[in-house]
Amino acid sequence: MQALQEIINKEMNWDDMRLEFGKLLGMTSPVPSAVLKKAIDSEKYASYLISASNNPKYLELMFNMPADVQEDKSNLQVLAKAASSLLKWGKSGFGFAPEEVFEKRFSACVSCEYLREAPDKAVYKLAMSKQTDDRICSACGCVASRKARLRSESCPVRNEKDPSLNRWGEAIAK
Ligand code: SF4
Repeated sequence: MQALQEIINKEMNWDDMRLEFGKLLGMTSPVPSAVLKKAIDSEKYASYLISASNNPKYLELMFNMPADVQEDKSNLQVLAKAASSLLKWGKSGFGFAPEEVFEKRFSACVSCEYLREAPDKAVYKLAMSKQTDDRICSACGCVASRKARLRSESCPVRNEKDPSLNRWGEAIAK
């Protein structure tokens, strides 16, 4: 995690480091001590935090998670997917799929056996907060209506009629 390493290399005192790390995450206040310790300890946790930059709700969830991250592996997997989806979306320029593409994608989800009710988890509640449909794709763990809206996303399951396509009818991502 190069940005975090740069902060550490500046030989700041602890409180300055907390403030700098807060700025890196788009905050005006320092991160809690426990959060910075955990970020230094775990590159994975640091990468989750950085992928949640400028998203106060997501950051708050992450700040409250240092202990849970080790205790609940299923939460960790969900967050890893959410973080990687967020990063992929960021790298593609935060683009949304046009409405007709979203409708085609999501109608495929609605008739797909992988679409399930979401488990009662805080991470899903967060992901669902602005969604009209909160069901998840059990093949990848994402909230399907959210996934279908993001241009950078793809359906992870092959189309039975044409294996070169996925169930959204789009070319399989390489
Ligand atoms: S993303 Fe694909 S596999 Fe998942 S629910 Fe939608 S159509 Fe089914």
